Amino acid sequence: MSRTSREWRLVARPNGVPADSDFELAEVEVGDPEDGQILVRNAFISVDPYMRGRMSDRRSYVSPYRLGEPMLGGAVGRVAASRLEGFAEDDWVVHGRGWREWALSDGRGVTKVDPLLAPLSAYLGALGMPGFTAWVGIHDIGELREGDVVFVSAAAGAVGSAAGQMARIRGARAIGSAGTAEKVAWLRELGFDGAFDYRETPTREALRELAPDGIDVYFDNVGGETLEAALGALREHGRVVACGSISRYNDTEAQPGPRNLQYVVTKRLRIQGFIVGDHSDRLPAFVADAVTWVRDGRLRWRETVVDGIEQAPEAFRGLLQGENVGKMLVRVGPDS
Ligand code: NDP
Repeated sequence: MSRTSREWRLVARPNGVPADSDFELAEVEVGDPEDGQILVRNAFISVDPYMRGRMSDRRSYVSPYRLGEPMLGGAVGRVAASRLEGFAEDDWVVHGRGWREWALSDGRGVTKVDPLLAPLSAYLGALGMPGFTAWVGIHDIGELREGDVVFVSAAAGAVGSAAGQMARIRGARAIGSAGTAEKVAWLRELGFDGAFDYRETPTREALRELAPDGIDVYFDNVGGETLEAALGALREHGRVVACGSISRYNDTEAQPGPRNLQYVVTKRLRIQGFIVGDHSDRLPAFVADAVTWVRDGRLRWRETVVDGIEQAPEAFRGLLQGENVGKMLVRVGPDS
């Protein structure tokens, strides 16, 4: 038997903000799994900032999307048929063949998830790659200590909202910035000790007010001017957890770095970048913490769900423009 599946392909390399004409929604026939394969009906697909890098023809830590081929990305779905040991029909799985409705997989990069612990979509957010990114950044890269003052940018996003909560769980004081009043209100609800709208108050001014004695750690999701402001606010021996620089992803030309980089020397700062995929040995420790915190209510999240696979490029553009509160997801099929 075969079924029709829609899948997104990149057909042109975006220049700046990705345009509709850079993508094509194709219909393909997907057959039954062969020996050693599973067939998955996707329920949610993830759109993530790193995908913007993969749309460009630049070598990076992940290879560029190939033009004319289906795009890859995180997805959660139900196993519709299995000819692979260890997977059975009706198992729920997270895997890397997103941007499509149906996926055949040989099981590489596929993980079973528990729909009773949390809604399935959470495995693409707080309980998935973004939550793990926050955990690695806070624990291993930032080496947070009790009493530290931490500033998190893009704090109402998937990674940032988890990072701020995890910082507080470790006994730090968390300050978050976000781009709307609604997001700032949510940060306060989550228990952030300080929160501000960077579009209303310049980050430098807000940090001066909310952390008059300076910050110990900056969890950087944004780069650019926000990084510059944070370097100014860091205390001696402060740390920058360099997670992402979303303010630059649609740039058509490289921008100069922060003008105050000399602070790295004079304040003896440490700036350390990381890629979550390099830390898979830490996954069990993250899962153990996350399960505990979800059960006792210390780790909470929100999602912005866009309906229909045909909306995926729009959802992706929206993510880069701040239209999401919490994790941005696209619902592409039944989730029960
Ligand atoms: P988010 O859910 O945080 O969504 C992106 C958010 O970025 C938007 O909602 C928007 O919120 C904010 N934003 C967009 N443009 C700007 C801008 N010019 N200035 C300030 N904020 C902006 O995405 P994720 O949680 O998935 O990712 C957050 C960061 O983490 C990204 O930089 C991403 O690349 C990085 N990342 C890094 C990983 C790693 O291994 N190092 C792994 C996963 C993610 P607002 O309304 O507040 O502007």
